[in-house]
Amino acid sequence: MHSPRMKAMLQAMNDNPVIPDRQDEKGRAAEDIFGQNVFGLPAMRKRLPKEVYRKLERIIRDGDRLDPAMADVVASAMKDWAMEHGATHYTHWFHPMTGLTAEKHDAFLTPTGDGQVISEFSGKMLISGEPDASSFPSGGIRSTFEARGYTAWDPSVPAFIIPQPYGATLHIPTYFYSYSGEALDRKIPLLRSIAALSQQAIRILRLFGNTKAKFVRPNVGPEQEYFLVDSRLAALRPDLLLTGRTLLGAPSPKGQEMEDHYFGAIPSRVMSFMQDLEIELLKLGIPAKTRHNEVAPGQFELAPVFEEANIACDHNMLCMNMMRHLAPRHGFVCLLHEKPFAGVNGSGKHNNWSLSDSEGNNLLNPGGTPQDNAQFLVFLAAVLRAVHKHAPALRLGTVGAGNDHRLGANEAPPAILSVYLGEQLAGVLDAFVNGGQAAEGKKPVMEIGVSTLPPLPVDLSDRNRTSPFAFTGNKFEFRAVGSSQSVAPVNIALNAAVACALDDIATDLEASTAAGTLLNTALQELLPRLFREHMPVVFNGNGYADSWPEEAARRGLPNDKDTVAALERYSEPAVMDVFLRCGILTEREMLSRQEILLENYSKTLCIEGRVMADMVRMSVLPASQESLRRSADTLLKTREVLGEEATGTEEEMFSALHSHMTALVGGVKALESAVAAVAATEGALAQARAARDSILPAMQVCREHADVLERMVDDAFWSLPRYAELLWSN
Ligand code: ADP
Ligand code: MG
Repeated sequence: MHSPRMKAMLQAMNDNPVIPDRQDEKGRAAEDIFGQNVFGLPAMRKRLPKEVYRKLERIIRDGDRLDPAMADVVASAMKDWAMEHGATHYTHWFHPMTGLTAEKHDAFLTPTGDGQVISEFSGKMLISGEPDASSFPSGGIRSTFEARGYTAWDPSVPAFIIPQPYGATLHIPTYFYSYSGEALDRKIPLLRSIAALSQQAIRILRLFGNTKAKFVRPNVGPEQEYFLVDSRLAALRPDLLLTGRTLLGAPSPKGQEMEDHYFGAIPSRVMSFMQDLEIELLKLGIPAKTRHNEVAPGQFELAPVFEEANIACDHNMLCMNMMRHLAPRHGFVCLLHEKPFAGVNGSGKHNNWSLSDSEGNNLLNPGGTPQDNAQFLVFLAAVLRAVHKHAPALRLGTVGAGNDHRLGANEAPPAILSVYLGEQLAGVLDAFVNGGQAAEGKKPVMEIGVSTLPPLPVDLSDRNRTSPFAFTGNKFEFRAVGSSQSVAPVNIALNAAVACALDDIATDLEASTAAGTLLNTALQELLPRLFREHMPVVFNGNGYADSWPEEAARRGLPNDKDTVAALERYSEPAVMDVFLRCGILTEREMLSRQEILLENYSKTLCIEGRVMADMVRMSVLPASQESLRRSADTLLKTREVLGEEATGTEEEMFSALHSHMTALVGGVKALESAVAAVAATEGALAQARAARDSILPAMQVCREHADVLERMVDDAFWSLPRYAELLWSN
């Protein structure tokens, strides 16, 4: 029986499922509803004076500067559109360093002085805001006396409305920065990284005689994995509610070993959630395309069609928000944590990344002509160089306490960054490097400007799921990102690293061509040199194999196994240089980020430790005690009836219970002291190290005994929903 408190908790989480009536949206084609809740180009074209629309289109498309004089006109049209869509409020929507999104709503309301109000929204309100930002992490950038943070409109991502039963709110995507102009968010460095990448890539295109391309931009398609857990069961798990993962739990007798969940039939309640979500995403202009069951029971995936990196990042944040927000009305809690359950697969987010120029050409497409292929090889060399030389910087894009449970745990790529190219492309590179069995005196197999690459079948190159960074036909897939993480950090690092590599290559080629060397001749010398230098980062084998870390160490590839190890390196000059060189982050911005991420790690572990200690003290031990009492009674009665000698079984059960309880009591005390000691540790790095080295092992000890006890205690006393129930009740 549930206690009144538990019943209230169950009701709180489950009593108001407002499933919308979708009579006019049911089964509608995507094209009919796509972008309905977005003030994008089509809505702007309809509502703005032609001249203003043209200017704004250029700003959005080509990144032209915003003319503040236009802002009033745009703001007024945006407000009219939003109010017609039921909006009563607006908010500047931004991405502070919490890893989540932030919003503070204001009504479209201005008093007129005669006791009335009018709905007003000026250009100034659109383009800038000043939320009270003193409680956002700034890593020391904002001192308390200058707590102001500022938001500024990012016109490159369309504004959108989020409807609620009593009215909608207009969301305006914005940057977030400090009084001194430093980035306090992830959008500013992302945009800087995109600009830097463009600048360097254009230098390469110009060398190839391309005078048309105005810019190069990265495209990103993030595949989002998630778990759905019944919200009635989740309501009884403090760990799920407070930390997003189970901290305790004996394995389910049936896990993922039958491989019957992956791509299986989608359960109907899950399907309702997915459809509801897709309709909302489509209305928000997010091209939700693919849905399927994932490997673990209760695990699913949603993949949108790729978009420009900045938009894709915002859309992924919005998508995660909508998942969390919509799940309850289908009786679910949506878990975005990287490792909600021990013993079954965790969730990642594959970051598909490619480069395209302003004319829409994908620069990572091998292409059909020798000229195209030579250009493709330059970009390929740049990516290899970026991953090889700047691995520690890229690793920073995947740090987080949650992702540590997943990376390198035989279900996700290891923390070692290597590149999978597929046998065929690796063979092409090999031909460059070795000049095609030069020993036998043959000419190089690959002669740039003469040979064409063999056609590279997309499918063949996508089979190795164990690589953290795989070439998949015309894009790279960075697979080490965690499911709950923003894709901004990983793309900032990737864009920055590739920009540095392209800069090196362009500088080299420009010097050669300026000295009168033909481009092809210069390439024939440079590319084999680059491929030879960076071949050690190419690995087509099994990334989960035990031998790989050893082999990787021989190749000199770094293996920063956990968040703390990776973050420690943030302040190394070579790592900082990746971001400094192209002006993506200043030193102060980086040091503040390092501190924020370290603090976030320590806080996460302290919270987990405290939640686990509570669960042990308030659920596991009391339930065990009940069982122990019963066990003692049984033992005594058996002795009375059968005599001293005949109580072997009862004694065994009693003493097993007793010894695990004793160990658990000791374990929980150790855990509590560890948390207290970590909380009192000064210095972000020292604290994070202490958290990793003391809280994690203490939690491990508690978990071992608690999970054994779960299977010994009478079911009637056990109040925490079990793995089997959480995983298999969709
Ligand atoms: P899977 O990895 O499941 O086999 P795909 O690789 O076909 O599926 O696509 C996964 C994601 O990659 C999708 O979000 C898709 O839009 C994205 N994607 C496809 N082409 C590109 C590209 N050129 N640049 C960036 N992302 C891409
Ligand atoms: Mg993929």
